[in-house]
Amino acid sequence: MKDRKSDNQQLSRRGFMAGASLAGLGTILSTTMAGGQTSTTESAASAPKVGLGDVPSRQFGKTGEKVSILSLGGIFDIINNQMMLKKALDFGITYWDTANSYHNGKSETGIGLYLEKFPETRKNIFLVTKSGSRDPKGMTDHLTLSLERMKTDHIDLFFVHGISNISEVSSPAVKEWADQMKKAGKIRFFGFSTHKNMESCLAAAPALGYIDGIMFTYNYRLMHGDAMKAATDACAKAGIGMTAMKTQGGGAVKTDSDAELALAGRFLEKGLTPFQAKIKAVWANDQISAVCSQMPNLTVLTANTQAALDERKLTAGDWKALRTYAETTGSAYCAGCAMNCERAPGCSEGIADVMRMMMYHTSFGDTHQARMAFAELPLSVRSGLSGMNLSEATNACPRGLNIAAVLKEAMEVLA
Ligand code: SF4
Repeated sequence: MKDRKSDNQQLSRRGFMAGASLAGLGTILSTTMAGGQTSTTESAASAPKVGLGDVPSRQFGKTGEKVSILSLGGIFDIINNQMMLKKALDFGITYWDTANSYHNGKSETGIGLYLEKFPETRKNIFLVTKSGSRDPKGMTDHLTLSLERMKTDHIDLFFVHGISNISEVSSPAVKEWADQMKKAGKIRFFGFSTHKNMESCLAAAPALGYIDGIMFTYNYRLMHGDAMKAATDACAKAGIGMTAMKTQGGGAVKTDSDAELALAGRFLEKGLTPFQAKIKAVWANDQISAVCSQMPNLTVLTANTQAALDERKLTAGDWKALRTYAETTGSAYCAGCAMNCERAPGCSEGIADVMRMMMYHTSFGDTHQARMAFAELPLSVRSGLSGMNLSEATNACPRGLNIAAVLKEAMEVLA
């Protein structure tokens, strides 16, 4: 690892400074903000740290593990992009995230291909996978398959994938399963991921006593909410490790507006892209151990790594710009508060899921991923979408999203 780091030093320095040279470099006068966030004054910034092999790490809750603050999200064709794994390790990105379902299992198979070829790297990787099952047999089947595919004898952190209510992981059977798998050495830590009703799922996790880690939708739009702040405070206090995902705050509705221009212009002056700034906003909360990001190519991997290495803190003006942007484009963003729309009269599960898939399509430009995620929804959920009372759902949406219009487009794009 040492040799690789020094090999990369020159390349990374050039790459980083190309971006950083645009910046008005200056100071650091930190002021503490709510929820562990920090900001700096406008006037200055520190010289950025360089060296792409040095992505910093943070403690992951009370697990005793330190994880790289940037996590490699595994929703891409890993089998045919093995170099991405190598470059991630070269850059110090040792926290890898995948799921049993990603790319129909090919994400895990791709990681297995790499670990089979380079078995010595396994000990350096904090490996996460997920199961969509909620029952012990299904989780065991998925875990067995994940271990086989990834050519490893253990998973560092095993998530129940995409819960929307804490009841999905709060049964004695789930607790017993987690305990047994830990004793058997098949998993080291246990938790869940969530993109729906995140605040309530997080708030209820500490009371369970067996949740080691959570991955959840968290970004510059959501982090200022009182319920979110209380939920992350509670998890931090309980020593639950937290990983943020969907940190770009992309929406299901296209927002080609002056707001994008204004934000890009603001951060261009500092040598940052808006994407990098949005990730830095999440890292400003030191309760969050890592940001999980889909990094399917070297451009994204390098840009995110540069953001992780940039020690400058966001200024008060940067925070204001992000909040202004969030407010201006808020009606295009689904906040995952499914307890509103999905419980409206004549409605049921699936609305917030489709919103997320349309975000993949609209904001990520990844229609393939959107379609695969849609195909994974239970048939009962997919077929139920057409019969819902979507005007009631729209009325219940606190963001005023035109749910009927988005679902209509979704049926054309995803089905
Ligand atoms: S109520 Fe609106 S913002 Fe909340 S999950 Fe439903 S569509 Fe998204």
